[in-house]
Amino acid sequence: MEQALEYMLQQRFGKTLKSAEKEEIYIALLLIAKEKMKDMKRNTGNKRLYYISAEFLIGKLLSNNLINLGLFEETREVLEHYDIDLTDIEELELEPSLGNGGLGRLAACFLDSIATLGLPGDGIGLNYHEGLFLQKFKENKQYEEKNPWITKESWLTKTECHFEIPFKDFTLVSSMYDMEIPGYQNGCNKLHLFDLDTVDEGIIYDGIQFDKEDIRRNLTLFLYPDDSDEKGQLLRIYQQYFMVSNAAQLILKESEERGIDLYHLYEHVCIQINDTHPTMVIPELIRLLMQRGFNMDTAIDVVRRTCAYTNHTILAEALEKWPVHYLEKVVPHLLPIIRELDQRVRRDFHDKRVYIIDDQNLVHMAHIDIHYGYSVNGVAALHTEILKNSELKPFYDIYPQKFHNETNGITFRRWLLHCNHKLANYIESLIGNDFLTNSMELEKLLEYKEDEEVLAKIVEIKQEAKSQLAAYLKETQGVEVDDTSVFDIQIKRLHEYKRQQMNALYAIYKYKEIKKGNLPVRPITLIFGAKAAPAYTIAKDIIHLILCLQQLIDKDPQVSPYLKIIMVENYNVTKAEKLIPACDISEQISLASKEASGTGNMKFMLNGAVTLGTEDGANVEIHELVGDENIYIFGETSEKIIELYETKGYCAAEIYENDPMIEELVDFIISKDMIRIGDPVNLARLYKEIVGKDWFMTLLDLKDYIKTKEQMIMDYEDEKKWAKKMLVNIAKAGYFSSDRTIAGYNKDIWKL
Ligand SMILES: *Cc1c(COP(=O)(O)O)cnc(C)c1O
Repeated sequence: MEQALEYMLQQRFGKTLKSAEKEEIYIALLLIAKEKMKDMKRNTGNKRLYYISAEFLIGKLLSNNLINLGLFEETREVLEHYDIDLTDIEELELEPSLGNGGLGRLAACFLDSIATLGLPGDGIGLNYHEGLFLQKFKENKQYEEKNPWITKESWLTKTECHFEIPFKDFTLVSSMYDMEIPGYQNGCNKLHLFDLDTVDEGIIYDGIQFDKEDIRRNLTLFLYPDDSDEKGQLLRIYQQYFMVSNAAQLILKESEERGIDLYHLYEHVCIQINDTHPTMVIPELIRLLMQRGFNMDTAIDVVRRTCAYTNHTILAEALEKWPVHYLEKVVPHLLPIIRELDQRVRRDFHDKRVYIIDDQNLVHMAHIDIHYGYSVNGVAALHTEILKNSELKPFYDIYPQKFHNETNGITFRRWLLHCNHKLANYIESLIGNDFLTNSMELEKLLEYKEDEEVLAKIVEIKQEAKSQLAAYLKETQGVEVDDTSVFDIQIKRLHEYKRQQMNALYAIYKYKEIKKGNLPVRPITLIFGAKAAPAYTIAKDIIHLILCLQQLIDKDPQVSPYLKIIMVENYNVTKAEKLIPACDISEQISLASKEASGTGNMKFMLNGAVTLGTEDGANVEIHELVGDENIYIFGETSEKIIELYETKGYCAAEIYENDPMIEELVDFIISKDMIRIGDPVNLARLYKEIVGKDWFMTLLDLKDYIKTKEQMIMDYEDEKKWAKKMLVNIAKAGYFSSDRTIAGYNKDIWKL
């Protein structure tokens, strides 16, 4: 590596390792890694997977690629010899903001595991120039700015591959960019990102505003552009069709190059549709096959045997339904096919609930996937059961054999090896390094459950991570954090169902307790990180509440020594990698039945945090694995919640009016103290929402939540007992490796 670096620096910049700037070293490392990956063996096989996703939240790639190439340690040592810290070099890389949250991060973990298992499978998505917005806080509110990440030298390689994409009024010519995805000690796959050469960042003004109708210049600017009006919704359809038409054309081109008989496409190709955004790949493929001489019946049959769908949510608002007349404005050539698909459903099943086009002329994208794909999977055991027994029951009754569960997972290369070297190295010293490719080996750690030296060491590693995070927060946000306090962390997209507002109400509770003189034995640090969708008003109000509480407590010398709130700005993968190793209490408090799986919960567990959670998503499986002793569960069950929705049996106002303690906490949102700091419009709106509606039943679980959290904070004081919980959580996290998840997809669905 030393020679390669010296050579590259000389070639590119006429410099040596001694004289080079950090930026130049970063570029040299990037170019070296790119060259290595170009020479790597490409994963091949008779059957190839294409994973289509609107999001790939891949995070920074330098360290990850070096780790997977087996060059990380060597590089670190070479640089250390010249007094250069690889971490400082990493800081210079911009994080590709090609994803929004869990779904996009899952796609990224999957790419890593598919390559690591040596399976031939490529990702297909869009090359958003500004990705998701950059979050800024001003006057305790979220503001959105553009988030450019593509630099002159980057992991992207422009290819010679172009396709013509037909829209109603014009045809666009795409360009394909590739990123190499190296497996850990294995072959390479690719992530194909499609783009338009005419896209122009210059049209963005005033934060993230732009002309939504200027498709040639705006198509791949942003991930999830604001769709609160018709123009925004049309733009999303443009993006989706652009993504899938490129995907379908690429798949057919590669298949023809491989000499595949397209009538047997499904024996050689599998297409995984990640959520409903890529659904139009189904009618598009049918269209393209018919252009190649297929009749409708055969085209449908071949496509049905090729495509598989992953459902990520049961939230009604997230299941896409496009008005027919919108599709007519953008992709009229798909409508005859979509209508035919609907006709066939109506012919075979006399049940309105499974039609593709409903009586309001809305096209249900998930219904296309379920009827015209061969597999439907949920992403955690509970989620899949809810799909089968309630959300998608009419479909399960028709196609029971199509349904699978594939519980989500995370790549241990990024979420342990990279983000927590110290812990990874220590685990290796105890049980060897087989756990990196065979994650269940982590269970061997259980042998050390009573070993005081091991327990003390795990606590010491956690303490170092906390001190490091404290230093990072001081440097980046100028805040002082007591690194001996309990670190309680809730980081995830802001959504009412995830119930950051419940955590904020705990903060109010604690604030009031401290004011009364009931001091905690140890200071508590509540850390939040979350972006709210720009048009999601209540979510932004919750951010406002948290930021106002942060300020209120900071300014109160009576409370601030015991309680601190920090909202981390612009939560992303890079921040997650710094926060997760430092966490004591992992907040996974979604309303039961609403979080499909969660993957943040898995990252925390793997890094020795203890979960405070509801019986929801993969928390259920975590609970089963670690046992009652090593997790803190609270709140109503998913069955009860589903029943409450069905019977409209929940009334927030009733709880509020009948419980003085709850009333006091909620009223504090609009108290004089808060109004002095915050915006009365935002605070009053949130107050009204919670008392008047509380769609995600915060008040239902609030008291149990507070009680359980208090217990947890008390238990934290028994260091040895707590350390044992940490150890069991780490040891049992093996099940949540995305290698296990991908092996499951391959066995049940892809059969590569
Ligand atoms: C893991 C991850 C998520 C998903 O977190 P959940 O708690 O599962 O919602 C979201 N954003 C980032 C940056 C992540 O790394």
